[in-house]
Amino acid sequence: MAQTLIELKVREILEDKIQYIKSDKGAIYLVGPIKLPVNLYGETVIFKWYCWLNCEEVTEDITRIIEKLSAKNLAEFQQSSVLVYGDFEFGEEALIRFHSICHTGDIFGSKRCDCGFQLKQSMKMIVDHGTGALFYLANHEGRGIGLFSKAMAYLLQENGFDTVEANLHLGFVDDSRNYSDAISVLKALRSKPVTLITNNPKKLEALQEAGMHVSGRTALWGDVSEYNEKYLQTKINRSGHLKEEGTCCND
Ligand SMILES: [Zn+2]
Repeated sequence: MAQTLIELKVREILEDKIQYIKSDKGAIYLVGPIKLPVNLYGETVIFKWYCWLNCEEVTEDITRIIEKLSAKNLAEFQQSSVLVYGDFEFGEEALIRFHSICHTGDIFGSKRCDCGFQLKQSMKMIVDHGTGALFYLANHEGRGIGLFSKAMAYLLQENGFDTVEANLHLGFVDDSRNYSDAISVLKALRSKPVTLITNNPKKLEALQEAGMHVSGRTALWGDVSEYNEKYLQTKINRSGHLKEEGTCCND
């Protein structure tokens, strides 16, 4: 009996915090908000954190979802998430960033790209602005080629190939990233227009085409160094990035 009561309690806690969003492939389960105090340049900032998961099965039965989760080895796969700041649902102006995961840049602080810098900097911009969200897209490693392939692409780059050539020689298109899930989550969290933090006009277009209300774009200057200069130049010359601004392997 006591066990049943605990199970009911668990269900009650989670039911309130999980919403499901219908998608082409089934459903996106969005869990949150969860209070997340973050160390941002030495200061503690309180964000609201949400995580999402794609699932073919569409159910609102929380017990069914819990059963499925424990049977899957989810740690073998990456899940995306979003950090929300301020009154994101109703605030008049909101800044958003769609940040593609970069294991080497975000975690190790690699200087081969400027992703780590851009990640922290965009969080700071959102906090300074007062309202916004940072989407951390876990299936976007190496512009969608995955971490292992990115390691191989780095080897090719060390031998004279540029980023675009390296990806093409490994059998990938230059940029295979898709934003549809993130846009669905964004729409579930906010219906008012947003300003996108990016140097990549293509990203802005992709979001507008997907029906998102984007009122503008704000640039994010990069952390240019001798280690990523060539890399950034390739983005400007070959991937349509704006010249006057810093760019990044993942932007
Ligand atoms: Zn990077």
